[in-house]
Amino acid sequence: MQENIIIAASETQSHRHSMDQPTWQQQLSNAIRDPQILCERLGLSRDWLAGAQIGHELFDVCVPEAYLNRIAYADINDPLLRQVIPLGEEALTPHGYVDDPLEEAQHRPAKGLIHKYAGRVLLIASPNCAINCRYCFRRHFPYSDNSPSRAQWQEALDYLRSDTTIHEAILSGGDPLAANDRQLAWLVEQLESIPHLKRLRIHTRLPVVIPDRVDDALLGWLASTRLQKVVVLHINHANEIDQAVVDACARLKQAGATLLNQSVLLRDVNDDVTTLATLSERLFEAGILPYYLHVLDPVQGAAHFDVPDSEARELVAQLRDYLPGFLMPRLVREIPGRESKTPL
Ligand SMILES: *Cc1c(COP(=O)(O)O)cnc(C)c1O
Ligand code: SF4
Repeated sequence: MQENIIIAASETQSHRHSMDQPTWQQQLSNAIRDPQILCERLGLSRDWLAGAQIGHELFDVCVPEAYLNRIAYADINDPLLRQVIPLGEEALTPHGYVDDPLEEAQHRPAKGLIHKYAGRVLLIASPNCAINCRYCFRRHFPYSDNSPSRAQWQEALDYLRSDTTIHEAILSGGDPLAANDRQLAWLVEQLESIPHLKRLRIHTRLPVVIPDRVDDALLGWLASTRLQKVVVLHINHANEIDQAVVDACARLKQAGATLLNQSVLLRDVNDDVTTLATLSERLFEAGILPYYLHVLDPVQGAAHFDVPDSEARELVAQLRDYLPGFLMPRLVREIPGRESKTPL
């Protein structure tokens, strides 16, 4: 019954969008998925196209317009462009770079559920993303096996119900907010009926990539759950935070969410002290606290983004000279088999 009410509410709430403003779903389906168009739109010379085609064969290019608009024209070194443009280097196969660097395949007690750490589980709420980040450790993830329908969620929900040590459900993906609000409202309703669950965490890049994703339908189910809400965004560079992102963050906060951010330390994107300090400052202006700064997971196709541990440690040590403690992200690596992320 409650589910019906939520659905009805999300369907009747009028969009804030005017006629000429596409919905987030339209923006997603209109995303640029052709390396040639990406190069043309950004005024990149044809020299980049051959490499882009090679990278695209390995992992599809996908860049929505709202993100593209934050990329400088004709600048191959733009830090946002580096995150999304496929390169020929992705075909390299250096030693130690693998398809499943986190060995997640071994921690799936139920379809769509990963339980590696005490007290919290990851739920793969959507196999899709709104953007394809070239360094992503999920670029080889077997998503077709891990995007359950409602009936298939029962196994994961039963697992959660039966383990009273679990206090937090983390919606992950892909990007969980790529799922529609009807599904998400249903899933959250199932989760909040489990008495020992206290927190709902959402790991998402969508409010950054397409800020219009934070619409009334999403805010409806988010605001109404009894669970404490944490939204962990994924932002790697201050240029990603434009006014639309600031506004989307304000809406999430208004719905009662605590906002955190995780970044990945990436060569030629954010591997210098000024860039990292500016990112933390800008995050806080948008109401977001830095949480993790991840070193790159050794996923095949992403080796050109790697920053060695010694350099990462040095960068973070220098960062401390610029920032208050509460704006310092924790530098971590995910090591398979460990009980938590490992501080460096
Ligand atoms: C990162 C991660 C979490 C969350 O870890 P926190 O340190 O609580 O942010 C939970 N489960 C898995 C499988 C993870 O990779
Ligand atoms: S949004 Fe996140 S999960 Fe999706 S491609 Fe980017 S880093 Fe990977």
